[in-house]
Amino acid sequence: MVVASAILPELISAVSAAIEDHADELTQLDQAIGDGDHLHNIQRGIHELLKESDALSRLDWQEAYLKIGTKILSSVGGASGSLYGTLFVTMGKAAQDKDVSDNFPAIFLSAVEAVGRRGKAGQGEKTMLDVLFPVAEVLRSSSGKLDSYEKIKATAIAGAEATRDMMATKGRASFLGERSRGHIDAGAKSSQIMICAIVDALRVQPERTG
Ligand code: ADP
Ligand code: MG
Repeated sequence: MVVASAILPELISAVSAAIEDHADELTQLDQAIGDGDHLHNIQRGIHELLKESDALSRLDWQEAYLKIGTKILSSVGGASGSLYGTLFVTMGKAAQDKDVSDNFPAIFLSAVEAVGRRGKAGQGEKTMLDVLFPVAEVLRSSSGKLDSYEKIKATAIAGAEATRDMMATKGRASFLGERSRGHIDAGAKSSQIMICAIVDALRVQPERTG
């Protein structure tokens, strides 16, 4: 599938709307096993990106990823600011001299791996990586196929849900040890919400080149 970066304003708006739809839930999740600021951190980043929407739509994907990442790094606090910022900056670096449409799964996977290195975390530690790694894997195995939309969404939802029974070993929730079990991780949930919003926005797009 070929998608032009001109779609970025639509994707950012879709992500913004989806986060607002789940605002209370995200706050409650981070209050339960973190410090309650996750929604605010995500909203801050989205607010900055909404302001940059038009400028982003005129960049190619590689430059746009870098700009999104540096904007998040410079404006968003908390663990999630540095981790989501790392995700996009690394996508920008990985996309250099590559056709993003042909190489998206590899670009995304290398960015998720960079998030893992940044957070010194892997799968099963009750973080956003429990959504990002499975989604990277499903993208790799089903890229370009039309049925992949539902598969990506189902994988993201299952990844977030799976964090409920995990014990957190990274981030603030790890301070609670066993008591962190029983709640979905806030960062896993925000990743899932954003991925599902992007997939839904992309699936209604006619193919565009550029
Ligand atoms: P903070 O934890 O600093 O308050 P946020 O509340 O914005 O920041 O983000 C918390 C989320 O960040 C967690 O729910 C988790 O998904 C993710 N996270 C925290 N630490 C790590 C880590 N070391 N590796 C990967 N993800 C992490
Ligand atoms: Mg927090």
